Amino acid sequence: ADNKIHWDKAPCRFCGTGCTVSVGTKNGKVVATHGDQLAEVNRGLNCIKGYFLAKIMYGKDRLTQPLLRKKNGTYDKNGEFTPVSWDEAFDIMAEKWKKTLKEKGPEAIGMFGSGQWTVWEGYAASKLMKAGFRSNNIDPNARHCMASAVAGFMRTFGIDEPMGCYDDLEHADAFVLWGSNMAEMHPILWTRLTDRRLSHPHVKVAVMSTFKHRSFDLADIPMVFKPQTDLIIANAIANYIIQNNKINKDFVAKHVNFRKGNDDIGYGLRPEHPLEQKAKNNDNAGGSVGIDFNAYAEFLKPYTISYAAKESGVSESALIELAELYANPDVKVMSLWTMGVNQHTRGVWMNNMIYNLHLLTGKISEPGNSPFSLTGQPSACGTAREVGTFAHRLPADLVVTNPKHRAFAEEIWRLPEGTVPAKVGAHAALQNRKLKDGEINCYWVQVNNNMQAAANMMEETYPGYRNPDNFIVTSDAYPTVTCEASDLILPTAMWVEKEGAYGNAERRTQFWHQLTNAPGEAKSDLWQLMEFSKRFQTDEVWPAELLDANPEYKGKSLFDVLYRNGNVDRYGMDEVYSDYANDEAEAFGFYVQKGLFEEYAQFGRDHGHDLAPFDRYHEERGLRWPVVNGKETLWRYREGYDPYVEPGRGVHFYGKPDGRAIIFALPYEAPPESPDDEFDLWLSTGRVLEHWHSGSMTQRVPELYKAVPDALCYMHPDDAQARGMRRGDEVKVVSRRGEIRTRVETRGRNKPPQGLVYVPWFDASQLINKCTLDATDPISKQTDYKKCAVKVTKA
Ligand code: SF4
Repeated sequence: ADNKIHWDKAPCRFCGTGCTVSVGTKNGKVVATHGDQLAEVNRGLNCIKGYFLAKIMYGKDRLTQPLLRKKNGTYDKNGEFTPVSWDEAFDIMAEKWKKTLKEKGPEAIGMFGSGQWTVWEGYAASKLMKAGFRSNNIDPNARHCMASAVAGFMRTFGIDEPMGCYDDLEHADAFVLWGSNMAEMHPILWTRLTDRRLSHPHVKVAVMSTFKHRSFDLADIPMVFKPQTDLIIANAIANYIIQNNKINKDFVAKHVNFRKGNDDIGYGLRPEHPLEQKAKNNDNAGGSVGIDFNAYAEFLKPYTISYAAKESGVSESALIELAELYANPDVKVMSLWTMGVNQHTRGVWMNNMIYNLHLLTGKISEPGNSPFSLTGQPSACGTAREVGTFAHRLPADLVVTNPKHRAFAEEIWRLPEGTVPAKVGAHAALQNRKLKDGEINCYWVQVNNNMQAAANMMEETYPGYRNPDNFIVTSDAYPTVTCEASDLILPTAMWVEKEGAYGNAERRTQFWHQLTNAPGEAKSDLWQLMEFSKRFQTDEVWPAELLDANPEYKGKSLFDVLYRNGNVDRYGMDEVYSDYANDEAEAFGFYVQKGLFEEYAQFGRDHGHDLAPFDRYHEERGLRWPVVNGKETLWRYREGYDPYVEPGRGVHFYGKPDGRAIIFALPYEAPPESPDDEFDLWLSTGRVLEHWHSGSMTQRVPELYKAVPDALCYMHPDDAQARGMRRGDEVKVVSRRGEIRTRVETRGRNKPPQGLVYVPWFDASQLINKCTLDATDPISKQTDYKKCAVKVTKA
């Protein structure tokens, strides 16, 4: 031990902005962090959560030992949590998994992870589930967060993730926030946007939401709309552009197809992909029907500005001002959205409809013209999406339903043909239902707090965890409500207690080294997954036909076939960075992270998703893929920026067989639940600046806890008065599904209009997801957390 602070770099542990922080360690402990001056994303700044990163690992109640529910010395569903060894923990897990696999098959086991897994953790988990246990029942909590964005990208462009990058913030003349509160949810990007607005007086900021929030402070065009009418507003803008003859005819003629939308997913097929030479027969938009421009224009005609104003409650003049931003060819527009659009029963359509506006006007894939889907979690893109941890996906936009994609994965993974099952696994909300119905019996939750996060938790989530037929395992760094509902808790190493990689919203992959040791017996998710795989022999989990056809795999452990396959164990201990600890490499005897990453990178290289060599990332503050010839890509699909667009082509949407993106004709559809006489208010939920997701880390930082200790019910003063309530009164928020008690706030940072209340979900003592509705988008299966009906009464 010396007395000096050692500084290193790491991406922030929290949001999808992906700031780089300088991390100071002393005597094996993180003692300070600050924004990295060299970071392109945050340029030395951090938001308040980032400033307190040094404290997130040192809450008094860190989990340091596996805990199993026991009574009289043995496992009992209703027993007390009792410390056990890792061996005992894995023994009982393996016993339950094997019994279930034998009796009910792979579909009776499941896993729930998140975009907070490191890249290689998500990759190892997906491989263990999809190839090892042969179950596609693995899903990330990105299902609650980004699934609609993914399906939106795939349907319109055939390739996931934004074409632009954060540099657009310094080039745009107008910013349109579609239901996003960037001031609190993406504060560093908001700083850059604010800087652009204040230093360039011509710049306009349009903010749309169902209630006023901090982002409205900067709004030139503030708009509060009635929930769900964003669908109408988007169509009205498209109609305005057409009626005023402002479409970019040349762009549309060359680069766009029109289709009448339906609910098909349009899973990705990449024409350039060697596997996809035959993709030309597939329109990649599911079974939707091709239409011409005139049919699209005709479809839009009823969506006039006056109709949109009447339905949405936004003034006609504001809507025209907004539509003009898109229509005026001289204004470069950046559209920004996150949960307001994605957590929507028509979230995929909303994503498609925002792209419609940029495609109609050709405002896309160049500096400042950018439809930009922001992400919530630090590696929503890098892990949840790119690695393929969704129940329908494989790495790099491939899908389990496509036989060629499965074959490609099996070849890279050096596994027999037919190892990966073709059936799409259960998505997040369906997993909860299957647990409740006893169809999934063994379930492993890592890096998320599903019980607090899932909608309609008391009716849909909790019963499944407590179902006596089920064995639930939760890995976490701190005790959470999910841990409490589980049978076995595994203590987890977090953030810089392990080597890691995250991918942020602008396709930037960032790495960090292990800088400290985890407390007690806490181990990384990666170690847990790989160590657990040692408990299974192929003969116990794979069908006899598969092994008879491939006898060389007989009698091997899943660890051997998945991770000791000559690929993952390719890099020895001599390659491990000698100045840093690497607990996983030490445990397994080879450079695990490098092997997993390089194997994973084979999926995307030369296929539009190129990642740089592993070691390069440790030198850089992230690189935006595709990285070709050592160079990152800032704007995709446009000649001169994107190495995949050949000279002379101009724009090329190469995710589609004919290189054209799709404009979808999509109608308004009513929300699944609306206020009525009894439940007379809309409820919207979300985050607050000071807390990350369910608050399990930030609530343990005293400064952040004190700043915002509880979730309040934000309400319009007239609504409070009509109910005889005063600010600070205890109230009950009640829906058809459940209720919570909290206090009413009429003067806070969020200012709902009459008829709507807002309650954040970070607070474990006020679980607002008891009230929310688990209605999902039919395409993406993402839950709508932004609207359901409640009543608020005096407690
Ligand atoms: Fe940056 Fe997000 Fe971390 Fe704040 S929470 S420092 S905005 S990455």
